[in-house]
Amino acid sequence: MSLAQDLWFNTEKCFINGAWIAPISGGTLPVEDPSTGQITGAIARGTSADIDAAVDAAESALTGEWGRMSALERGRILARIGQLVLTRVDQLARIEAQDVGKPLTQARADAVALARYMEFYAGAADKIHGETIPYLDGYTVYTLREPHGVTGHIVPWNYPMQIIGRSVGAALTMGNACVLKPAEEACLTALAFAEIAREAGLPAGALNVVPGLGNEAGAALSSHPGVHHISFTGSVGVGKLIQKSAGENVVPVTLELGGKSPQLVFEDADIDDALPFLVNAGIQNAGQTCSASSRILVHRSRFDEVCERMAQSYSALKVGPALSDLNVGPLISARQKEIVSGFLNAGAQLEKIGEGVIVSDAPQSGHYIAPTLFAPVDANHSLAQDEIFGPVQVVIPFDNEDEAAMIANGTDFGLVASIWTESGARQMRLAKRLRSGQVFINNYGAGGGVELPFGGVGKSGHGREKGFEALYGFSTLKTVAAKHG
Ligand code: NAD
Repeated sequence: MSLAQDLWFNTEKCFINGAWIAPISGGTLPVEDPSTGQITGAIARGTSADIDAAVDAAESALTGEWGRMSALERGRILARIGQLVLTRVDQLARIEAQDVGKPLTQARADAVALARYMEFYAGAADKIHGETIPYLDGYTVYTLREPHGVTGHIVPWNYPMQIIGRSVGAALTMGNACVLKPAEEACLTALAFAEIAREAGLPAGALNVVPGLGNEAGAALSSHPGVHHISFTGSVGVGKLIQKSAGENVVPVTLELGGKSPQLVFEDADIDDALPFLVNAGIQNAGQTCSASSRILVHRSRFDEVCERMAQSYSALKVGPALSDLNVGPLISARQKEIVSGFLNAGAQLEKIGEGVIVSDAPQSGHYIAPTLFAPVDANHSLAQDEIFGPVQVVIPFDNEDEAAMIANGTDFGLVASIWTESGARQMRLAKRLRSGQVFINNYGAGGGVELPFGGVGKSGHGREKGFEALYGFSTLKTVAAKHG
């Protein structure tokens, strides 16, 4: 089945005020299949004029049906969106596989996660409330949780469905009206989501989607004076620009940026349990995952054993077209392949102990890179410090807990970390000591967990998405003090 057969909506338009509208400039951008390098279609190239129209539509929604809707009704609409996503999981997965290049099974998991975000937030919509505060005699004081207003959502290409689910899902739950700018490299499922939301009865203007380039539509959205909150997921460099724009407009901003997430394997770790997590967390989505575990820190007494077993796993990894559903797909673009190749060149002096296999029928024009494992690697080497965003992992030895913590905390980032040890005391000590938004004990990622607050410290960003915590971030607190004598 070709990609076009799966697209039941017009991809060359923006979704504004509940309708599909051609971009005002009339421009388009190409859609490329990373598995083949072929151009498979076109999307709208929205510009600042389209962003203006989207922000106006969102503003009107807040004073219209959407703004007046009860939390219960908002929850019901989110539940309907979730149900419709579930009926289209296979279709969404095929679209995503051909747009992002991720193997079908992984794309399918993203579609299921999108539905799960809708289910979770549907149930939460009428359970977020304020409190009463004991105050002076003759007063009644209470707090109200209210939407910010118009929220801007700028998302990257690596997990469009999951990131839209966690960010737009939470914002809609709290009654905000959203303007979404998907990534130019992969925005088809964002458009599919808009169509599904329309089918589910989301009032016009509550969600608007404007595809386009970062420095055009993205910059216009993040600097728009009519936007009251910005949620950005992407690179550190662009995150800094977004934070500056938000500063100019004095609006809150959530930044979900990169990572260099470590897994710490101690002398008492169960290596059988750990092994699949050590490898999969590095190569999932071809390593193009903000929470990819790109650093494996291993106690010297188990170092050779872990290296050997990871190397064996690497040699069994098959790389090929997304629709072939192998372990690893292509990278998103020729540009990303160039960046990752640059890192591999920087590691040319290091010992390469494991490598995956690109299958022989993978098209030459696809953006494939064989997953690569280096060991031992010095903790200060660029491959152990910089975010690679490709299927590359390094293994670093350590001699004791202090050294492990120092290495783990020794990058600019702090998104996810995991600790593999049977010692309860060590688990507790390190969970506190690691500078990281999430810490997992004897697992990594806990299966995605829409319920689990997620976000970083340091250059990994700030603010939290996912779970109930996101609902606080996507709302503002009003205190009401009534003097009644
Ligand atoms: P990117 O920053 O280049 O692009 C992300 C989004 O920002 C895209 O929609 C893009 O169009 C937009 N953008 C680009 N320039 C802009 C500008 N000047 N103004 C406004 N918007 C602009 O990042 P990327 O290459 O798409 O994604 C890779 C990066 O994202 C990695 O560093 C990765 O770690 C990070 N990431 C983080 C998370 C997380 O949750 N922490 C999740 C996914 C990706």
